[in-house]
Formats: sequence, C-alpha cells, structure tokens
Amino acid sequence: MTEQITNIPDKGKKKRIVIVGGGFGGIKIARKLKGQHYQVVLLDKNNYHLFQPLLYQVATSGIEPSAISFPFRKIFKGYKDFHIRICEVQQVHPEEKQITTSIGSLNYDYLIIATGCYTNYFGNNEMAKHTMSLKTTAEALHNRNQVLESFEKALNTDNPQKRNQLMTFIIVGAGATGIELAGALAEMRKFILPHDYPDLDTSTMKIVLIDGGSRLLPAFSSQSSEEVKKYLTRLGVEILLNKQVKNYENNMLVLNDGSFIESANVYWVAGVKANSLAGFPAECYGPGNRLKVNEYNQIQDFKNIFAIGDTALMISK
Ligand SMILES: Cc1cc2nc3c(=O)[nH]c(=O)nc-3n(C[C@H](O)[C@H](O)[C@H](O)COP(=O)(O)OP(=O)(O)OC[C@H]3O[C@@H](n4cnc5c(N)ncnc54)[C@H](O)[C@@H]3O)c2cc1C
Repeated sequence: MTEQITNIPDKGKKKRIVIVGGGFGGIKIARKLKGQHYQVVLLDKNNYHLFQPLLYQVATSGIEPSAISFPFRKIFKGYKDFHIRICEVQQVHPEEKQITTSIGSLNYDYLIIATGCYTNYFGNNEMAKHTMSLKTTAEALHNRNQVLESFEKALNTDNPQKRNQLMTFIIVGAGATGIELAGALAEMRKFILPHDYPDLDTSTMKIVLIDGGSRLLPAFSSQSSEEVKKYLTRLGVEILLNKQVKNYENNMLVLNDGSFIESANVYWVAGVKANSLAGFPAECYGPGNRLKVNEYNQIQDFKNIFAIGDTALMISK
C-alpha cells in the first residue's frame, strides 16, 4: 500500500466520508453534508467544479472558461472539517476501506463515487485521433481555436475544395450536446461571421448534424425531437438521420451507406463511458462501464460505497 495522504486531520470519533469527484453529483452531496457530524474529504483531478452544460458556448466563443469554472475552495469556504485534495483516484480496496490516489492512499468509512464519464469512441481510434470532443475546458478551448483557425485558413486559400473542407462543420451525435453545438455554430454563421469576417462568404459555411438513430434528442419526447428538427432546419443545419459514421481520415468522413462528406472540422459527441473506479468484482459494472447501484445508490454487496450521477447505473423494475 502507498503512503497515506498527508495533512488530513485525525477524524476522531467522527466517520469519514470520502467523495470522489466534484461534478454535479459530488458538490450537491457535499453541500448537503454541511453541518452534519462527519469528516468530509472531497477529491478531484481539478481544483474547480465545471458546469459542463455550457461548454459548447466556450467552444463557440460565446463565453470564457471562467464563467463556467467554480473553484472548490471558494464553494466550500467556511465548511468545518471539510478537506479538499486535488488528485486522481486510481482504485478502491473495499476490503480495507481504502482508496489509492496519485498522492497517496486514504481510508474511508463511507465512499461516494461521483466521477462522471468521458467520451466513448467505441474503439474507433481514428475518430479519437482526428475529431473534436467536448467534455473538458481544454477540449472546448481546443475546439474554439480550431474553428477560428479554420475561418482564417479559409480566407487565405484559393483552393475551393480546401475552403469547402475548412468551412464544413460536422457534428456526430444528436443528443443534447450535439444539437446545442449545431445551434451555436448556426448562430455564429448568422451573427458573428458577417461582422468578424466580412471578407468571408458566410453562405460557404455548412453545418451538418449526423446521427445513427431515427430522430434527434432520442432521450426526449418525440415532440421535442420534431420541434428541435424544425428549429435547426430553419437555422440552416443539414440533418442526416439513420446514418452511421464508419471512418474519418484525410478530411473525409465516410458513412455506412458509402457516401462521404469532406470536412476539416468533425465533432464527436456520440457517446460516453463511465469513469468508474477499478477495484470491484466484474459483476458490479454494467453497460458503459457504469457501477450498478440499488435504490439507495449503494453498489451491490458494498453497503458503505455509493455511486451517483453519470457513473451510476440504477435499474428500476
Ligand atoms: C457539453 C455538455 C452539455 C451538457 N448539457 C446538459 C444539459 O443541458 N442538461 C443536463 O442535465 N445535462 C447536461 N450535460 C450532462 C451533465 O453535465 C452531466 O450529466 C453531469 O455533469 C454529471 O454529473 P456527475 O457529477 O455525474 O459528473 P461530472 O459533472 O462529470 O463530474 C465528475 C467529476 O469527477 C472528477 N473525476 C473523474 N474521475 C476522477 C478520478 N479518477 N479522480 C478524481 N476526480 C475524478 C472530474 O474531474 C469531475 O470534476 C451536458 C454535458 C456536456 C459535456
């Protein structure tokens, strides 16, 4: 076992609750525990909470990262016996009631896993290498730079094929993130481009939204899907449904029906996989690597370990 994390005070007679992940789930529960008779330790890879729903705005230059990043030390200022450590949690050792992290190990009485999820490329390494994803601030800023660079390069080229590739923006995945991105790019074409790039013909900017399913926003009602479809179509977004992406190489996105679209800017927002921690028997992990939980969010057979948020899978009968 590695050394214990230093400088976390002795918990005395209190029970220690360790929360891994300060996303939506982690900060909600940490706030609820304020003033309760527990010692609480919050561990996260970053020193800030990230409000992911507005990442697409950062990616399309609408807002700055500071508008959606909230330092944990500010959120939890004044909380008693509340300790924050920035580290990556690597593994759970349920028998020892201990976790190992990048800065040492730590014992818990109760463990709450709230580690969220990451982009799933379903094993397609080419897509992972060449497309833009949108789960972190770093990715959003990378996307923003790529979009602006594409506009600049499109201005500088006489080659119509190259310009077409630079001005074509493809979004793969028509869930909430995909439709928000498509809408934001369409608004950029309408309101920003004519002012910021007056020498660029805005009609050359194409936005294409692709999904393997038969409707947009499959997790919402079919009425919502229809309304969003109408709205995006009005904004000039091309929508391709029932199409699966096979490959993307040399600015060529190939679909399963053999057709292809040329583009230098492809976003992959077509799936996620849970960041669930290692250390549990295989039967504790469900589809998408999510940790299976009961109605109290307890991981099966581990009464003192809970999983919440995107990393948890609660199956109701
Ligand atoms: C672009 C985008 C738009 C979205 N729009 C919406 C929306 O409109 N409405 C909606 O309801 N939802 C939306 N979502 C989804 C929503 O953001 C998530 O459902 C929510 O953030 C999940 O909360 P969580 O606490 O499970 O995980 P997260 O908020 O992802 O937090 C996980 C935390 O765990 C930390 N972490 C992960 N692994 C480790 C580790 N090993 N060690 C230490 N720390 C770790 C991470 O740094 C992070 O802080 C959107 C998501 C994205 C990406």
